[in-house]
Amino acid sequence: MAALTGDALGVLTRDALGALDAADKLAAFRDRFELPEGVIYLDGNSLGPVPKETPGRIADVVAREWGVSLIRAWTEHDWIGLPLRVGAKIGRLIGGAPDSTVVADSTSVNLFKLLAAALEMRPGRQTILTETGNFPTDLYMAQGLTALLGRGHVLRTVDDPLGALGADVAVLMLTHVNYRSGAMHDMEAVTRAAHEAGALVLWDLSHSVGAVPLQLAADDVDLAVGCGYKFLNGGPGAPAFLYVAPRLQAGLKSPLTGWLGHAEPFAFGSVYRAAAGVARAVVGTPPVLSLAALEVGVDLMLRAPMAELRAKSVRLAAMFMALVGQECGADGFVLLTPADAALRGSQVSFAHPAGYAIMQALIERGVIGDFRAPDVLRFGLAPLYVRYVDVWDAVAVLRDVMRGGVWQEERFGVRRPVT
Ligand SMILES: *Cc1c(COP(=O)(O)O)cnc(C)c1O
Repeated sequence: MAALTGDALGVLTRDALGALDAADKLAAFRDRFELPEGVIYLDGNSLGPVPKETPGRIADVVAREWGVSLIRAWTEHDWIGLPLRVGAKIGRLIGGAPDSTVVADSTSVNLFKLLAAALEMRPGRQTILTETGNFPTDLYMAQGLTALLGRGHVLRTVDDPLGALGADVAVLMLTHVNYRSGAMHDMEAVTRAAHEAGALVLWDLSHSVGAVPLQLAADDVDLAVGCGYKFLNGGPGAPAFLYVAPRLQAGLKSPLTGWLGHAEPFAFGSVYRAAAGVARAVVGTPPVLSLAALEVGVDLMLRAPMAELRAKSVRLAAMFMALVGQECGADGFVLLTPADAALRGSQVSFAHPAGYAIMQALIERGVIGDFRAPDVLRFGLAPLYVRYVDVWDAVAVLRDVMRGGVWQEERFGVRRPVT
């Protein structure tokens, strides 16, 4: 689709996009999801849709596993193994080393645990380094942790974190794909730079897992966390995951020393002793129903070849950008997402002064993206279920919204450019 620029746009038709769908090797995956009629869902980067298999799976866990096995289900149905079992599957999605990923808690809590552990592993270094515009919970958790420790640690937030790496940085904490712009860091290069400065690196993969190819082991990543309810389609509030490189596991001290992270939880001893490996980062009893739902989403994702997913995601985004330029080029949208596919994840964002009103109008017309203050419209392009024609249809609705004048000066206090 290199021709998808400039004059070539004129020949891009809905039928041409339909032909791409007909040839799409991933097309069958769409039918594995419940997607309401009349909705174009471009917000799977915030809450993935429900896989058709999920309600039946949850019902089975409730009726058969919980209902019949009762407490025996912890062993009979291996509930106790869920965090490591589903973690291992997510480990495959992120290219992690074996036995290094576990499902636990929320992304926020996992950030706290791994940041605390990282500071312990770099005594004498006082700085958590991050970048301007990182996701708020990442910043807030770091702020709460440094205040709690009371040992003079600081969170430093800068525009150019690589330029700020120095002898005082204990850990570089970055979100791999930015939630607002969709811009993606070079994981391998950034990790290497952090290591050269003697720092650990902690990646937040919330907008990466299930969306872009990842190879944490090959990139020598130290620590990572990520979200289960976005591109993994694990359901609202799905538990999160965390990753610890094998070389760091024996020295990892989680600050939340719960009984299920104990070496022998069922010995019920009175003194904490960390479990071997990444299991020590588990805190308490796993949320079995939520984990069962997450496993369905992860299994579905594992069946789709990541190279195909990425190729489709890149192409969907290229078309979306090109079509917005073609159909709404004079409407004042500013592309926030890198045009270079190598530098972006699986979402496209635009800034627009009337962004909130425009997104409301889109949602009223069945095109669901989302809005992030002050002016960002986000469109997630999940290649597992978004079709090429959806991109066409979404931009057609956007064009109609703009032609309808939803952001006219008198309503929204912004000037409509002369078209
Ligand atoms: C969605 C998201 C989270 C979510 O954290 P929760 O603890 O699940 O609320 C964290 N970090 C990033 C970068 C996210 O995009």
